[in-house]
Amino acid sequence: MFKYEILKQSKKSKARVGKIKTPHGEIITPAFIPVATLGVIKGGLDFQDIEKANIQCQITNTFHFIDLNKVKIVKRAGGLHKFFNFSKPIFTDSGGFQIFSLGKGQELGLGKIASIFPKNQKTSKNKRSVGLVEKIDKKGVIFRSPRTGKKIKLSPKLSAKAQIDLGADFIYLLDVCGSPLDNLKIAKREMDLSHLWFEEFLKVKIPENQRVFGIIQGGIYKSLREASTKFVSNLPVFGIAIGGALGKSKNDMYKIISWINKHIDWQRPHHLLGIGDLEVMEKIIKLGIDLFDCALPTRIARHGTALTSKGYLDISKSRHMDKFKPIEKGCKCFTCQNYSIAQLNFLFKAKEQLAGRLLTIHNLWFLENKLKRIRERIEMNKF
Ligand SMILES: [Zn+2]
Repeated sequence: MFKYEILKQSKKSKARVGKIKTPHGEIITPAFIPVATLGVIKGGLDFQDIEKANIQCQITNTFHFIDLNKVKIVKRAGGLHKFFNFSKPIFTDSGGFQIFSLGKGQELGLGKIASIFPKNQKTSKNKRSVGLVEKIDKKGVIFRSPRTGKKIKLSPKLSAKAQIDLGADFIYLLDVCGSPLDNLKIAKREMDLSHLWFEEFLKVKIPENQRVFGIIQGGIYKSLREASTKFVSNLPVFGIAIGGALGKSKNDMYKIISWINKHIDWQRPHHLLGIGDLEVMEKIIKLGIDLFDCALPTRIARHGTALTSKGYLDISKSRHMDKFKPIEKGCKCFTCQNYSIAQLNFLFKAKEQLAGRLLTIHNLWFLENKLKRIRERIEMNKF
């Protein structure tokens, strides 16, 4: 039912074209995984719009379904695919990212790549509770709900069970996603705890129609990244993800991936978690990344920015009000086939929701089409 096959290995870089077979069809890699936080891609897209956007798969956030207490409803509906009318492969994350985003990330205003270091970076080091994360130990993590303030318990087994109930094709081990500010000692503790949780998670019987991705931790430290890569490569998992903090800059991130690359199992698909904007896409593919997810392309669409071959296009600018041509010449997406920049500029200025929806359809199509061309270049040894 599941299989990963490398169709073409580039001779010039670590880039490869691959095929992931799932019960919900194939994913041809390198592939972008659009973020569908609550089961749907934000921007008001229905399942027909999703067809129009030509995407291959999507990723949904388990934590939010737990927080909303909706895991059982989705299970009763027959899983995410049925509940949201999505016929293609689905990924669900484990909740580990929220340990960072609702914890240190929220408290210090950080991303997984932190270019600006806050002055008060020491404040969270020895505190038991950080942001909405109350406690982390061998058993799991206790959050405060960002919606209601109620306590939410998450353990490796609870994450596994929730992801089994949601029924995605690919599920992720529960990890402790660290911060770029963690010192070596803290990063090691988080990595060790992640490894312990992985073993607990894998004690749960995973159904035949699902496969697991392991997650490499270790933050910005070479020795830890190497140790975690070896540990995760030895687990009985279908794919390998790179998680956690990625340093101060994109160059730090590339360096971290290159450390990992020396020890990673190349026979399995590699997923770089939460990173994948236009600027880094080609570079990470050359470093052997097969899958990447990122909320940016759909988020900027809702705020009026289109992706084009010349870079970002801010549709809201007044100079676009009489441009009666599509966003991208030759783009075959529904939006470019039916709407001009002038129309989109008008709709956006008028605060009509249609603008965000149409831009989201274009941005998703644009990325998938760009990746299609990258895959063709890899096939022809021109990448
Ligand atoms: Zn288009």
